[in-house]
Amino acid sequence: MKRPILIHPDPRLKKVCAPVADISDDLRQLADDMLETMYDAPGIGLAAPQVGVLDRLIVLDCVREEGEPPRPLVMFNPEVIASSDEMNTYDEGCLSIPDQYAEVTRPKVVDVTWIDRDGKLHRETFDGLWATCVQHEIDHLNGKLFIDYLGPMKRQMITRKMQKLKRDRARG
Ligand SMILES: [Zn+2]
Repeated sequence: MKRPILIHPDPRLKKVCAPVADISDDLRQLADDMLETMYDAPGIGLAAPQVGVLDRLIVLDCVREEGEPPRPLVMFNPEVIASSDEMNTYDEGCLSIPDQYAEVTRPKVVDVTWIDRDGKLHRETFDGLWATCVQHEIDHLNGKLFIDYLGPMKRQMITRKMQKLKRDRARG
């Protein structure tokens, strides 16, 4: 089932999310719903706070080549445990900040640990778009958005556009 995506500014997007203690069927259902919501949007990553749930859960799939099989990843309690000195700049966007893009510089390669939907611990090295996406999604679990990397002028401009978008949507 698709879930509505919160649009910035929203206090729930600024919260530090709680670690998941054990993975219930409800949380597995939430992960499935988040993947469906992400693919439908379409997007390459989604964090639980973006659907109003303040748990440390993200989903992502950065496969973009035509004909490549999808690779949906569900990560509970994801953590960056090592980052490269080498940096990479991507034009980032966010499903909670529709149609706004800006360049963000982050470590190019990261090692990430997480628990999967069956409770199994994983560790993997991510590079390129995957590395950017997983860092962007983990930031969401700490109440941080990609616009927080921008200067105050640019951030305010985007926030005002989002406030207007929300007003327009509320009016219908
Ligand atoms: Zn985002």
